[in-house]
Amino acid sequence: MQLAGKRAVVTGSNSGIGLGIARELARAGADVVINSFTDEPADHALAAEIAAETGAKVTYIQADMSKPDQCRALIEAAGGCDILVNNAGIQHVARIEEFPGEKWDAIIAINLSSAFHTSAAALPGMYAKGWGRVINISSAHGLTASPYKSAYIAAKHGIVGLSKTTALEAAGKGVTCNAICPGYVLTPIVEKQIPDQMKTHGMDRETVIKEVMLARQPSGEFATVEQMGGTAVFLCSDAAAQITGTTISVDGGWTAL
Ligand code: NAD
Repeated sequence: MQLAGKRAVVTGSNSGIGLGIARELARAGADVVINSFTDEPADHALAAEIAAETGAKVTYIQADMSKPDQCRALIEAAGGCDILVNNAGIQHVARIEEFPGEKWDAIIAINLSSAFHTSAAALPGMYAKGWGRVINISSAHGLTASPYKSAYIAAKHGIVGLSKTTALEAAGKGVTCNAICPGYVLTPIVEKQIPDQMKTHGMDRETVIKEVMLARQPSGEFATVEQMGGTAVFLCSDAAAQITGTTISVDGGWTAL
């Protein structure tokens, strides 16, 4: 198994892309820590389910990625990690003049600052072992912009910059850092936007998906959580050992337009 003996921590991984990445890392043989801010029986059951399916050791650790001390405590509770996937993220859509200040702060904390705090806690252990992978989940919105998503786009561009700096500091230590930039993936964060878009545009669900959401995705298809997981596993491979400080778009051609 490619990742046998490696421990991965995936932030915000009880749903969507994080869950998809956790599953693929476990399938590749890594022990995986799943995380979110909740502590429900369902969270622990999910870890048990992936463990049963893959044979990997999978545990759930509750930690709120909006809180710097909990970001660092997550890495400590995991016992350090060889693979860190910074994935937790939230969204809010409003014009800048109407964007609530507390929403801006929450998005910057969860989507950007958490990756700084977890990386700060995880990197020393990776340097000591001479091997590590930091994978930050940015977005096509880390490379391009859209109106009404100021905090999200600022955070996702910030994640690309943080990934480059992490890569430079880690260079020569066996540790790489890259950002995956997904286009639209049909997960709860996207699903929640569909009713609003239907109302705003006066369209049915299928038309909103085709003409609004996927308008910028030339493939006309959503990317999948399995594809994000596969990309993360690739970044952990020997073939990717010299890929560092860059972005990998999995966006159906969005950023080629
Ligand atoms: P999602 O809503 O399904 O998942 C978000 C995850 O983050 C959940 O597990 C949630 O519990 C967790 N989370 C939220 N707040 C948290 C907190 N305070 N502490 C810990 N965990 C927290 O959405 P998703 O689409 O799977 O998004 C995952 C990442 O991918 C996000 O960073 C998002 O910006 C990014 N992304 C998504 C898309 C897309 O189209 N779905 C596209 C580009 C980038």
